[in-house]
Amino acid sequence: MTTNADLFAAAQAVIPGGVDSPVRAYGSVGGVPSFVARAKGPRVWDAEGHEFVDLICSWGPMLLGHADERVVDAVRTAAEAGLSFGAPTESETLLAEAIRKRVPLAEKVRFVSTGTEATMTAIRLARGVTGRDLIIKFAGNYHGHSDCLLSEAGSGVATGGLPASAGVPAGISALTLVLPYNNVKAVQEAFAQRGSEIAAVIVEGAAANMGVVAPRAGFLPEISRLCREHGALMIQDEVLTGFRVSPSGWWGLSTGREYLESPVGTTSGPAGLFPVGVAAQNNGVTFGEFWTPDLLTFGKVIGGGMPLAALGGRAELMNQLAPLGPVYQAGTLSGNPLSCAAGLATLRGADNNVYGKVDAVADTIAGALDAALNREGVPHFIGRAGSLFSVFFSETPVTDYAGAKAQETWRFAPMFWEFHRQGVMLPPSVFEAWFVSAAHFGDDAAMNQILDAIPAAAKAAAAAEPPQA
Ligand SMILES: *Cc1c(COP(=O)(O)O)cnc(C)c1O
Repeated sequence: MTTNADLFAAAQAVIPGGVDSPVRAYGSVGGVPSFVARAKGPRVWDAEGHEFVDLICSWGPMLLGHADERVVDAVRTAAEAGLSFGAPTESETLLAEAIRKRVPLAEKVRFVSTGTEATMTAIRLARGVTGRDLIIKFAGNYHGHSDCLLSEAGSGVATGGLPASAGVPAGISALTLVLPYNNVKAVQEAFAQRGSEIAAVIVEGAAANMGVVAPRAGFLPEISRLCREHGALMIQDEVLTGFRVSPSGWWGLSTGREYLESPVGTTSGPAGLFPVGVAAQNNGVTFGEFWTPDLLTFGKVIGGGMPLAALGGRAELMNQLAPLGPVYQAGTLSGNPLSCAAGLATLRGADNNVYGKVDAVADTIAGALDAALNREGVPHFIGRAGSLFSVFFSETPVTDYAGAKAQETWRFAPMFWEFHRQGVMLPPSVFEAWFVSAAHFGDDAAMNQILDAIPAAAKAAAAAEPPQA
């Protein structure tokens, strides 16, 4: 039998660290990563034939569950018609229309292949439109790995304990101001000092790459207001939250605009629209706040597991992109027909029921984890943003990156391996969100496997020892 260890050794011989994205290497939990052989619904199987209930869900895209038949069929049909043409296809238009329907702010949409490209292009567009160079980002927010967005970037950068990446010229880092997340005053001061130089503020819809840290009430609206006042653009990065935390992402969830048209045969709600249930707790976010980001970025769920991402915004801004405008952007595989087919099938499947299901699954798991950690006396705080959640081993609520880093991170690895031993696959870092799918809902065996693992996992976190200095 091929073991995970064999596969990891072979991979390490030809791939740096054996992986194509750093967190997959299990650096912060130690040990050998599970090489996945296949997945279905809420489950994955590794190369050794072990079955796991999955709480990674490809870091977000698998909202409907793995290998959903509607999505696989759509991809198969598209594949039979040809894999890529380097010419426009109707599926791009259909997906852009589906996105605009859910987030009307995205009057026009440009497809790219990764979230990194989406945010990189949004920054270039903001600089091109404003004629300014300075960017504001927030510590612990991750926007992909382009040069100007890697400072204090959360996700794998946080897991590796890096302030940033080598290879980013100082002159480029100097154009990015990194401010503490959830700190309105810091943003006000930055604008007061350098407002006329700032091209854009980029911020996650809800921060979910340093663990899950929802924006405080007023934080995003104030960013929007300051941008408007100073002629800068607000880029709301919904690569992770988009179409995962509500039909219209974090923007829809927190503005109370998370509407989908009623499915055929449903009559409830005004004018054929009805609201989706709001997840129980969102860290004190006030719903019904209104603000208008200028540009939004999407990824993860919109590709349904295939490489696809997008940026969207007002038509007058988006029309500044080539070929209409002077801001260049292109991609050989951009808007790939298989990716668009997977994305369309995923969004078509992601009805109000699906969002209700992932909220309920998240409530169940987060609630059980909270209770078990309480029973064991483990200091902790469950960060929550819609169906996204993560545990911080912290006495106090975590509202920013400093708080996330100050937690007892060493409690995570023992808890991770206890879950693993009991057949539950967690994201292998304390700085990552836990992801659930609609396929977890109603699968009693899968849910019980998670719930049964929680008491011993909480005990493992309680018994963990801090590293010797
Ligand atoms: C995942 C992520 C990205 C980067 O997307 P890739 O497809 O991995 O390049 C950007 N922004 C946020 C908020 C993300 O979670």
